[in-house]
Amino acid sequence: MLKKIDHLGIAVHSIEKARKFYENVLGLNCEKEEEVTSQKVRTAFFVLGETHIELLEPTSDDSPIAIFLAKRGEGLHHVAYRTTDIEKQLQAAKDQGCTLIHETPITGAGNKQVAFLHPKSSHGLLTEFCSEAQ
Ligand code: ZN
Repeated sequence: MLKKIDHLGIAVHSIEKARKFYENVLGLNCEKEEEVTSQKVRTAFFVLGETHIELLEPTSDDSPIAIFLAKRGEGLHHVAYRTTDIEKQLQAAKDQGCTLIHETPITGAGNKQVAFLHPKSSHGLLTEFCSEAQ
């Protein structure tokens, strides 16, 4: 069952440049920065109440984020929903005919189990399910 929007993922060319907007204009605090080698991205998480803003910067040219930036430029990359049972959530999406990018969850930022649905199954917006850190 979905509990809340865990975070919004926003693709940027440079966290160093983009963070000024989130810190100075919006007044948000950066909770942590982390490189996720499996996804070839550097991330920075900003706290906003119960949810977070996740900035994503590619660490290599074949990073999924580099490909996204080349195609669509900076902007909203994905919405992440916190779920109580990620395996069940994935199976339910599959049963409804969704294409999964991850058949089984992978370890994402903050050691959370995460999995993505293909944007063609979710009307153009990449959808992430994530569980609590294990
Ligand atoms: Zn995310």
